[in-house]
Amino acid sequence: MSRRSTTQLSPSPRPPREWQQHGRCRDADAELFFPPFEVESTGARHVREAAAKAVCAECPVLEECRDWVLAVDEPHGIWGGLTESERRELLYARRAS
Ligand code: SF4
Repeated sequence: MSRRSTTQLSPSPRPPREWQQHGRCRDADAELFFPPFEVESTGARHVREAAAKAVCAECPVLEECRDWVLAVDEPHGIWGGLTESERRELLYARRAS
């Protein structure tokens, strides 16, 4: 799979139903991708996020997932190998350019 720069976005991402069934997260612990309801320490969050990103890094639909999540501006969870704050930074940079 070719990897685009994280600042290159698809103008019309494919809807999730077309690619989500191939996501590596389907076989992973869903709790890795979203913060717990209880307080999470910074260290625990970093460990959880790193584990989720490791799953995304091996995902065959990473680009489709990232395009979609940036297009819908999803506020929660790790999608496309990006945290909420990383997506906000990317979208901010995109809008500023
Ligand atoms: S990139 Fe990550 S969040 Fe998106 S489908 Fe793949 S494993 Fe799931």
